[in-house]
Amino acid sequence: MKKVIIRKTEEIENWRRNINSDINFIPTMGNLHNGHIKLISTAKKDNTNVNLVSIFVNPLQFDDKSDLENYPKTIENDIKISFANGADVIFIPSTEDIYPTNNKSIKFLKASIELSSALCGLNRSGHFDGVCTVVFRLLNLIKPKNLYLGEKDWQQLLILKNLVLTKKLNVAIRSIPTQRDFDGIPLSSRNVHLSKNERKLIKFFSNELLIAKKNFQQDKKISLKEIIKNLSAEKISIEYLEHLHPHTLQQARSEDNISILAGAIRCGETRLIDHVFLMKRKPIIAIDGPAGSGKSTVTKLIAKKLKLLYLDTGAMYRALSWLLIKENIDYKKEKNLQKILKNISIVFKSNENSNQDVFINNYCVTEEIRSQEISSIVSKISSIKELRKFLVEEQRRIGESGGLVAEGRDIGTTVFPDAELKIFLTASIDERAKRRKSDKQSKDSQEIDLHTLKELIKKRDFEDSNREISPLIKANDAIEIITDGYSIHDVVDKIIDLYNDKVPKETQIQ
Ligand code: C5P
Repeated sequence: MKKVIIRKTEEIENWRRNINSDINFIPTMGNLHNGHIKLISTAKKDNTNVNLVSIFVNPLQFDDKSDLENYPKTIENDIKISFANGADVIFIPSTEDIYPTNNKSIKFLKASIELSSALCGLNRSGHFDGVCTVVFRLLNLIKPKNLYLGEKDWQQLLILKNLVLTKKLNVAIRSIPTQRDFDGIPLSSRNVHLSKNERKLIKFFSNELLIAKKNFQQDKKISLKEIIKNLSAEKISIEYLEHLHPHTLQQARSEDNISILAGAIRCGETRLIDHVFLMKRKPIIAIDGPAGSGKSTVTKLIAKKLKLLYLDTGAMYRALSWLLIKENIDYKKEKNLQKILKNISIVFKSNENSNQDVFINNYCVTEEIRSQEISSIVSKISSIKELRKFLVEEQRRIGESGGLVAEGRDIGTTVFPDAELKIFLTASIDERAKRRKSDKQSKDSQEIDLHTLKELIKKRDFEDSNREISPLIKANDAIEIITDGYSIHDVVDKIIDLYNDKVPKETQIQ
């Protein structure tokens, strides 16, 4: 594709009408560094869309005139860097183009009050209103499919997500983790203003945050006082240092698994911000739903794409049912059950086809647990209290440090009620029966006629949804996805988008 530079808003509209592709939009204020390069190259790698980089220093978001005047401008170099790293088009409008004085249709927006009254909003009045105004204007001109933003400006990212939501804009926001320089400080266009000593101080500040993050992983505790004491000892002037919920920016609560520790300091004339995410464990995705809703296929693909551990809890209930039948145990007698549960080991192992084999007490039961014999008895067996207690504990032990996607019936309600993302996957009974019939894993289902299969699934649905302990129900905070008419890849992409929206990219790095 021919590289293009556009400088006028009328030109951008003409250009857009003549391309046959969706657009990735990477807005910048110029003076590009490795953080911008990562955004441009990530957009390039993500898809085959046209990559448009804008370079525009937005006067509306500067509350300090001298800061605007001193903002580093390196346009020729920025053009070279953008094209060399995956930009197809560069948009360099003038202020008059973006805010024409005679155009009454330009909307000056207000940022979300809740989100903009915390952190940087406290001391930078109007800053986020200016950010919303320019991004809204640019989005209306460019009409991109994807908007790429860095997590370095986390509050800005939240405010722009809120803008997209409230204005019902048809654009997906994609983010990248904070990019850091060789000495650990976050890359920023303003870093060029730092003297050697100021750089030393900001390095100290960033390092304090990184130490707090590390300590939190072990003790699950944070002391703001301690950090403030350390920073003050270095004569670092702190504008704010807060421990907050990562999405609402309200005070972090003890039950939050992921929280944000964010600070702003002043070094000479320069103001710098940095943050880290604190995590009690790595993120968890819970996927629940009835038989045949596509849970297994979707969950496996998500695990692979997001490099998460895959936990098939249904296979654990099936394996236990298999053992009880094989050993001819009268499981209605509590004593018998307790005895067998004492000596049970259920293990998942990857096989040569990159699938998981299931072992119970060293028997490989991967295929046998998918038989109709097991399918017809498993719901009854899985309604037994002691057995559920045992398996739920096992599942929590497997998921103790997070980093997994688990599928089942009670994951979001009982096993991992604090999962970062909860999905309730379902489909009509006709669709589910059809899927089961063509499911190569459940060989017995292929031999049963569709009508009987439908009745068997309905019976299992009824038993699973009406049992006394942890029945199959949608958790209050789960997102329901009805999969009729959607391809597996549509569903997987939708869930990954939801995950990326809820879970900062930085916390996804394994
Ligand atoms: O998902 P799958 O069809 O393999 O699950 C088999 C059965 O195991 C379900 O019908 C249900 O009775 C039981 N189960 C459960 N709780 C889970 C997962 C499965 O009760 N978390």
